[in-house]
Amino acid sequence: MKIYIDGKFLPESEAKISVFDHGLLYGDGVFEGIRFYNGRVFRLEGHLDRLWDSARAIALTVPLTREEMTTALLETVRQNELRDGYIRLIVTRGIGNLGLNPENCKGASTIIIAASIALYPEEQYRRGLDVITCGTRRMAAAALSPQVKSLNYLNNILAKIEAMQAGAGEGLMLNEQGYVAECTGDNIFVIKRGGLMTPPISAGGLRGITRDVVIEIAKELGVPFHEPELTRYDIYTADECFLTGTAAEIIPVISLDKRMIGTGKPGPETARFTARFRELTQSSGTPIY
Ligand code: PMP
Repeated sequence: MKIYIDGKFLPESEAKISVFDHGLLYGDGVFEGIRFYNGRVFRLEGHLDRLWDSARAIALTVPLTREEMTTALLETVRQNELRDGYIRLIVTRGIGNLGLNPENCKGASTIIIAASIALYPEEQYRRGLDVITCGTRRMAAAALSPQVKSLNYLNNILAKIEAMQAGAGEGLMLNEQGYVAECTGDNIFVIKRGGLMTPPISAGGLRGITRDVVIEIAKELGVPFHEPELTRYDIYTADECFLTGTAAEIIPVISLDKRMIGTGKPGPETARFTARFRELTQSSGTPIY
C-alpha cells in the first residue's frame, strides 16, 4: 500500500507522522471519508467542499489548493491500482510543541490513504440493524459544531461503545434537548405513510454527503420529504428506517431499543432508495484513470 503524506507516496511501513503533531496530541485536524466505485470517485466535490468548510471552521489552512488536492487524491488511488474502495483524507494541524497554541505548529500536514473497504457484513444489509439509544448526547453546536468533521471523534466513540456493549449494530444519538440527531457514524432516515423524514441539520447531525444524495433521490422518485424535529416516538412508529453514510451506504434498521420498526424486516421503500443509490454510485463520479 502506498500512502500519500505531504507530497510523497510512502510504503505503509514508512508512512508515519510526528508524535508532536497536534492531530495526535489534541485531535486538532479534519478529515473526510470518500468512496470510489468502478474507477470513479463518488461526490468528490461535496467531500472537498466539506473538508474546506471543516478546516475553515477550525482556522486551519489546507496546505494544498483544490486542484492540487484532487490530483493528489486521484494519484493515491492510481498508485494503489484500485477501482473500488475507500479514501481517508486527513489534514492535521501539523508539528507543534506540547502546548495547545496552534500558532506554534509549523504547517498543516496532508495524509491520503486509499484502501479496499470492509463494509458491514452483507448479512446485516439483508437482515437490518438493531439500534439502541445511547445515553451519550451528541455534542452541542455551541461547544464544537457537529458540522466540523474533526479528528476528535470521542463523542461518537463513547456512544459507539454503548451500542457495542448493548450488542446493537449502531447507536442513536439525541441532542441535548432530547431530539434525534444522528447515529454514531451515520445519518438516520424514516419512512412514514409514504413520506421520507430525517432530522434537520440544526438538530446536531453531520450534513452527510450520502444524506444529500438520498434527499435528491426522494425528489427524483417523487417521495414527499420533510426535515421535522424528530423524537424517538417517530422512529418507534415509523414504517421503515435506514441509516446513511459513505462507508455504510444505505443500511436498513429493524429495531430501536428492542422495539420492532414496521414489519421488523427491511422495507420496500428502503430497497427502492438503495437500488437507485447503487445505480448512481456505478454511473457517476470523477474518473480516476
Ligand atoms: N454522521 C457522522 C457522525 C459521520 O461521521 C458520518 C460519516 N461517516 C455521517 C454522519 C455520514 O456522512 P457521509 O454520508 O458524508 O459519510
